[in-house]
Amino acid sequence: MRQLSLADWQARSEQLRPQGRAFIQGQYCDAVKGDRFATLNPANGLPLAEVASCDEQDAQLAVGHARTAFRRGDWSTLAPAARKKVMLKLADLVELHAEELALLETLDMGKPIGDSLNVDMPAAINCLRWNAEAIDKVYGEVAPTGLDNLGLITREPLGVVAAIVPWNFPLMMACWKIAPALAAGNAVILKPSEKSPLSAIRLAALAKEAGIPDGIFQVLPGFGHTVGKALALHPDVDALAFTGSTRVGKLLTQYAGESNMKRTFMECGGKSANIVFADAGDLDKVAREAAQAIFFNQGEVCIAGSRLLVENSIREELVERIIAHAQSWQPGNPLDPASAMGAIVDATQLDGIRSHVARGIEQGARLRLGGEAVLTDGGGCYFPPTVFDEIDNRLALAREEIFGPVLAVIGFDSAEEAIAIANDSPYGLAAAVWTQNLDKALNTARRLESGQVYVNNYAGGDMTVPFGGVKQSGNGRDKSLHSLAEYSQTKTTWIELGTNA
Ligand code: NAD
Repeated sequence: MRQLSLADWQARSEQLRPQGRAFIQGQYCDAVKGDRFATLNPANGLPLAEVASCDEQDAQLAVGHARTAFRRGDWSTLAPAARKKVMLKLADLVELHAEELALLETLDMGKPIGDSLNVDMPAAINCLRWNAEAIDKVYGEVAPTGLDNLGLITREPLGVVAAIVPWNFPLMMACWKIAPALAAGNAVILKPSEKSPLSAIRLAALAKEAGIPDGIFQVLPGFGHTVGKALALHPDVDALAFTGSTRVGKLLTQYAGESNMKRTFMECGGKSANIVFADAGDLDKVAREAAQAIFFNQGEVCIAGSRLLVENSIREELVERIIAHAQSWQPGNPLDPASAMGAIVDATQLDGIRSHVARGIEQGARLRLGGEAVLTDGGGCYFPPTVFDEIDNRLALAREEIFGPVLAVIGFDSAEEAIAIANDSPYGLAAAVWTQNLDKALNTARRLESGQVYVNNYAGGDMTVPFGGVKQSGNGRDKSLHSLAEYSQTKTTWIELGTNA
């Protein structure tokens, strides 16, 4: 297949007319009140599309349709093998339209087109296929009772699931929720981020084409405090699957308690420690991966390796090497297949990054690279790789999630000290350990308070392993059979058996 050039992508983007309406009961429609908002391209600040701004009334409507569709049973009680067939068709359709979806993603949130096409789309497609393939291989149980009873443990879908997702990997994050939720037989309402709604809206039409019944998959674009809150408070939503900030995750947990005690699966923020011991081995490989861990996706990654903990004897050398690798992460036009870094999602996010950096400098942090917005002439939001060295873990730069390409380097002298610093955080999403000593690697990994630990790599893993956090990084798990299990509940059927037949 021919590789598309910058000119090709630009030509395609000029022809693109993104759909911006909500998708309710199998049809695109305006919000009930007719409100809309403009979604902007962060690479140049220009409007991309007018998007339906849904609110409580749309949530009411969609939840009603979802409940009816769930009870109708043409999805929820369909044989798993039949649901699988439809989900596989959806995966095929996403694959067929991958270039269009990748383009929507890049225009809407600023990530490089190469990443949209080669990272986000394959991950979304794989997630749909994996859950489709899994669903007809999950068995119920028979309890170990005496001969006069039979205890059946079956799994049933939860009912109506609302999935509220962020903007950093819009379609991929959506698929991490909707693939297992749909596969398990639920009716799903997807609320994409107001900063990146376009790929989710497009996905709705593909789901219908694949054969997902009306009302089983609906998409409500709009703001968090309007339609998001309405879904979270709705008494007829059975579960909330959320990925986003810890601040909003706490609110959603509250809304669930205030309303119907719906289940909540929270995937929230992080401030992950990437720990490099002096015996890490190939320091250039470590530097390359440490740079990628914080600069990939403009640093807008929940598991970004934003705290680099380095044994002091190699700190200077490693930081020099990371600064050298940062040269290959300079921001550029997201539509250019050669760009490794694109635009920051919007001006608000850019301002947030700037103020974190300014505060760090004010507090005396040592800036080694970057630190100021770049390419500002064209109206775009760009921030370069930024490195602070000799950071104290008590500084805001080491404690707060910045969600931008800003690295805080912290020195240590012993494994004990490294583990204490790594665990001294409200978050617990990811951590990495670099050492050639297996005992040190495993002992450190065991003691880290983190949902996942990478040894001699950063951000490894595939659909076979769960992804999620501990502490204030959340309590949900995406990916793997552990995630599929979250979207169903057990039912016990206890049968009394006659003994004289
Ligand atoms: P955010 O919390 O601002 O928004 C996430 C979603 O919640 C959006 O759809 C938003 O509209 C909605 N929302 C906001 N306020 C709401 C409210 N009051 N009620 C209901 N819904 C509401 O997060 P963001 O800025 O979109 O994404 C960045 C955050 O997501 C970071 O903290 C990042 O670490 C986190 N994240 C976590 C994971 C993970 O798997 N743990 C993955 C990706 C991103």
